[in-house]
Amino acid sequence: MYMFYPSNNTAGRKSLNGAGVMNTKLDSDIKYLKGVGPKRAEYYQKLGVSTVADLLCHYPRSYMDFSSPVSINDAMLNENNIIKGRIVKRLAAARIRRGMTIYKAVMTDDESDITIVIYNSEFAFNRLIEGREYLLYGKVTGNLVRKEISSPIILDADTADKILPVYPLTEGLTQSLLRTTVQNALKYLDGEIYETIPKEIAARRGLCSLNFALENIHFPKDFLSLSIAKNRLVFDEFLTLGLGMLKLKGRSRGKTGCKMNDVSIDEFYDGLPFKLTNAQLNAINDCISDMKKGYPMNRLVQGDVGSGKTAVAAACAFFACKNGCQTALMAPTEILANQHYKTLSDFLVPFGIKICLLTGSLTAKNKREIKESIKSGEVLVIVGTHALVEDSTEFDNLGLVITDEQHRFGVEQRANLSNKGNNPHCMVMSATPIPRTLALMIYGDLDISIINEFPKGRKPIETFAITGKGRERAFGFVIQRLKEGRQAYIVCPMIEENDLELQSVKEYSDKISRSYFKEYRVGLLHGRLKPKQKDAIMQEFKNGNIDILVSTTVVEVGVDVPNAAVMVIENSERFGLSQLHQLRGRVGRGSEKSYCILITDNPTEECVKRLKIMSKISDGFKISEEDLKLRGPGDFFGSRQHGLPALKIADMAEDTEILRQAQEEARAIIKDDPTLSKPENKSLAELVDKLFSRTIDN
Ligand code: ADP
Ligand code: MG
Repeated sequence: MYMFYPSNNTAGRKSLNGAGVMNTKLDSDIKYLKGVGPKRAEYYQKLGVSTVADLLCHYPRSYMDFSSPVSINDAMLNENNIIKGRIVKRLAAARIRRGMTIYKAVMTDDESDITIVIYNSEFAFNRLIEGREYLLYGKVTGNLVRKEISSPIILDADTADKILPVYPLTEGLTQSLLRTTVQNALKYLDGEIYETIPKEIAARRGLCSLNFALENIHFPKDFLSLSIAKNRLVFDEFLTLGLGMLKLKGRSRGKTGCKMNDVSIDEFYDGLPFKLTNAQLNAINDCISDMKKGYPMNRLVQGDVGSGKTAVAAACAFFACKNGCQTALMAPTEILANQHYKTLSDFLVPFGIKICLLTGSLTAKNKREIKESIKSGEVLVIVGTHALVEDSTEFDNLGLVITDEQHRFGVEQRANLSNKGNNPHCMVMSATPIPRTLALMIYGDLDISIINEFPKGRKPIETFAITGKGRERAFGFVIQRLKEGRQAYIVCPMIEENDLELQSVKEYSDKISRSYFKEYRVGLLHGRLKPKQKDAIMQEFKNGNIDILVSTTVVEVGVDVPNAAVMVIENSERFGLSQLHQLRGRVGRGSEKSYCILITDNPTEECVKRLKIMSKISDGFKISEEDLKLRGPGDFFGSRQHGLPALKIADMAEDTEILRQAQEEARAIIKDDPTLSKPENKSLAELVDKLFSRTIDN
């Protein structure tokens, strides 16, 4: 999804876009590319590829290395091998039955022989010419004397491309089709020099040209070239990301329109039903001192699940109210918005502060009325979902914007909300326990307050890891808790939200509700339900009308059902540690002792190690560090945990050095041109727009 600008070759590339040539061959529709056509173009659309440039940026997910074949003798039986040899003889085709023809040929490497077996593909067979040399990739079977390789991938031995790309595919496309098509697309680069980043930067950072990078990311000459190419593309992506983030921040960089005065909020503290922890007080003080400065606060309040972030938000909202400013709190789901609305009402209404709830499910009339009261300044605290960022939502004097569970929002959405005020203060609350170093990278120059202390009297959640054999006992344990009047969660992972997996979760839920738990009310929550249905079920659970909530991972982040005292997690090996920690944070929110039972039917050594960590450690930050050690950073940042645009090739945690360098460059560029509107930054601005248009969270 890059935009490419051909630079003016003869002018020594000094102007990337000065010529204003935007529509290059690379922007032409993929359907005109040789080997594509209208039908296949539709398949490519599914991969997000609509232009030739898009295809060039459809990077391989891995590579097949034909550069170091083994001898036929050394080929490992029953495994995939790469071998090289000469065709000695093509044997006659054997028709086994209708629709099944077997082709065979004998290949030698002058040391031993192997039989190539090809099913049904005369086309593949005809590639093999007696006397010629080939490289084959495929599973080798047989015994030490007689070996066979069936349906191998065949390459001419003298081929230039010995490292073959393996692409993410979709129905209707094959690897070999994609390879040929990408090769055709690469021809578009011939004789042209394309560039996206300023020449000085490329020189300073020792980056290869974009042409080289694209050629070698697809068909690397060797692994060194591949890594040089990758560095370049990773750099581009980070630079774009950095520029985008800084540009977004830049919007709220100026002076704030809501400098606040040093008013006391002691009456708020006095009204609380509990004493705040020191960590909560510190976070509040950080925020208040930010808000008294002349420029907008930009602070992340990070605290483990249950650390009491809502009270911090309430205190800040109270402070803003006393300064005559409105506060908007945005939550990622209706149920969370509802919950915050209730909690904040408890905290703030006693002081005569008007508060309202704005969500998508309100009737049009209701919405209009509420929006009216927001605009008039009648309500001071507004809790809501994305409805808050709708164009028609106008504020009177928005001074503080709080977003909860921020990784669920795109950065853009957050920025949109702050644009509704006059440079309001921003506070982000997150329970995602990201190690500090990584947090700094993601959030850049956001200030961070960490709530590293739990309210007094909180009992740690006792966690057990068991195998499937113990399931019955675990259910017995759950029933005991139910008899004591508690409620329970049972979490079943769905790797993909597909029908098959959903079916099995439904069956599971049916089965346990008819057997073990037939005397109890079992509810089922999954991602295929409409938001309204989900909310209704969650609400029933909150109200105590459901005893056991069977749920896929949609069980909402941050939902507070203090009466839920036990959670069973099935197939717990499928979850990352941090995710398990988040999940188990749904229990242990009341005064009762709470339990989490991790079940696995696949107790490998690795898995046991991981689950042991869960039963030993209850600190989310420590767990995330362990998680990072065990899984590596790549996984940690998987699945859009951070609300940043989806990166294609760069890895936030792996490519840290490139990230650092790219951020340095981004800062320098933005300093000189905060809105990226200078002509020499035009191609970068386009890249930023492209990248951020991919931020599709929610
Ligand atoms: P989270 O940080 O996960 O959003 P919440 O704000 O939902 O946590 O707080 C969890 C629970 O702890 C709530 O029921 C809240 O009322 C309670 N709580 C918050 N702060 C304190 C405190 N200092 N002492 C006792 N209970 C507290
Ligand atoms: Mg919360």
